[in-house]
Parts: sequence; C-alpha cells; structure tokens
Amino acid sequence: MTKASKLLENAGIPESKIESELVLAYLLEISRGELSVMSINNDTILQNIFEQADEIIRKRCSTRKPLAYLLGQWEFYGILLDIDENVLIPRPETEILVDLILKKFPDKPLLGIDIGTGSGAIAIALLKNRKNWRIIGADISGKALRIARKNAERYGLLDRFFPVECDICAPFDRCDFIVANLPYVSTGQFDKLQPEVRYEPRKALDGGSNGLMFIRNLLKASAKIETNFLAIEFGIGQEIEIAKIIEQNNYKYEIIEDYAKIPRFASIEKRTE
Ligand code: GLN
Repeated sequence: MTKASKLLENAGIPESKIESELVLAYLLEISRGELSVMSINNDTILQNIFEQADEIIRKRCSTRKPLAYLLGQWEFYGILLDIDENVLIPRPETEILVDLILKKFPDKPLLGIDIGTGSGAIAIALLKNRKNWRIIGADISGKALRIARKNAERYGLLDRFFPVECDICAPFDRCDFIVANLPYVSTGQFDKLQPEVRYEPRKALDGGSNGLMFIRNLLKASAKIETNFLAIEFGIGQEIEIAKIIEQNNYKYEIIEDYAKIPRFASIEKRTE
C-alpha cells in the first residue's frame, strides 16, 4: 500500500493515499472504510491482490487516466455508480447540490428534472433518499443515458427514473424542481485543467467562451416550464455573472458555498408576486 501510494505521489498525483486505498478496496470488493478494519491472512490472496493493484496503479501513473475510469466505478453520496468515459466523474462538492434539494422538499409525490444527468448521480442520490419522488434524467448524450439507466436499474429505481435524450430546451412543461450541473468550464480554461480532465467528455465540461452558455440557456428555457425551483452548480469565480443572469430573468436566488467556502451553487425561485 505504501509502495502504491509512493508510486502515485512520485507521478505527481494528488490524493495518492486515498487513490491507493480505493484500488485495494475495489479489488477486495469492499468499501474504503472497511479496508482499515480488515485483515487478510492468506498470503496467496494478498500477493494476487497486490499484483493487480500494481498493474492498475502503473497504468494510472503512465496515462493519467482518472482512477474512476480505470476502475469503472465511483462513489457519490455514499452510492457506488458505474462510470465510463461517456460521463463526467461525479465530484464530491456536487453532493451539496443534492443536500440542497433534499433540504428544500419533503418526501411527498414530486417530479424533478435533472438536466445534464450524465451518470445519473444526482438523480439517483435524490431518489434513494425520497421514496415518493420521480425524476426525469435529461441528457444530450445517449451514451451517458445508457450509464444512467444502468445505475438506476442497479438500485431498483427504473420505475421512478426516466432517462430522456434531449437538449436543454427540452419538451418539458411542468415539474416541481429542476436540478442541473451543466458544463461550466470556459473553453479557454479547459486547456489549463489537470491532464485527467481531458479524458472526461468535453461536452460535459465545456460551457463555451465564458463557460456560462448552458446555464444561461437553462434559465431562459425554464421561463417556459411551470416550476418554481431550480438548483444549479457553477464554476469558481462565476457568481457575479450567474447573479446577473438570474436577475435578468427576474428570479429570486441564494448563492451557496462549497466545502472550501467558495460560492458554487445557486438556489433559484421564480417570483410568485
Ligand atoms: N467540477 C468540474 C471541474 O471542475 C466541472 C463540472 C462541470 O462543468 N459541470 O472540472
């Protein structure tokens, strides 16, 4: 384990300890938490696991391909999801977006739309915590929706999760809430991101010249949808522009910070008066 962690560290990979633990947990088919309390006494199993771990870690170092894609799975909101290169890897801060919606609405029959659902991470986390909700997972990528569907199926949610292949200005007319983690990286910023990000689907990240193209389109489109609540994620430093876009639509809003106290989310309500 220490060797694995050292290899990763020398290759300039941050979070090297966490990643080496994730590889071992994956191979042992247990959670990372369980790893610390586990003891394996069979040397042959151990040898075998270490060889496989070594192979994954060497591939990780030489290619800089994200670990989530090498393992084909990633955890979000305590839920293990299938992940491949057609979907963005769910980020821990997006869990705040999930919490925001869960805090806002109780478990009564509601219909939500997750725009740009990708792996279905946000929708699945919500549905697992609210037995009476139904969510439409909209995405422009059919390949992403196949993964989202698979994830919903894995957790027995296919009766309440509805994948729909469509653009942001989709044919929806009403819902109780909209949640969206749309692409918000500006085209110029994209080339400066760490090498791992280049393995992720560009169309899930690139939000046009200032990164705000999709969020702007969503807010515009939402005017035609009968809904009162929207929750969105945006990029570092975009809060002033985001506020402007929301105000142009004459909505009320609150900006919410991520774990590092950086403004990253907006909860938006249409004015009822
Ligand atoms: N959080 C991602 C990043 O910083 C971007 C996700 C997105 O564009 N929605 O790489």
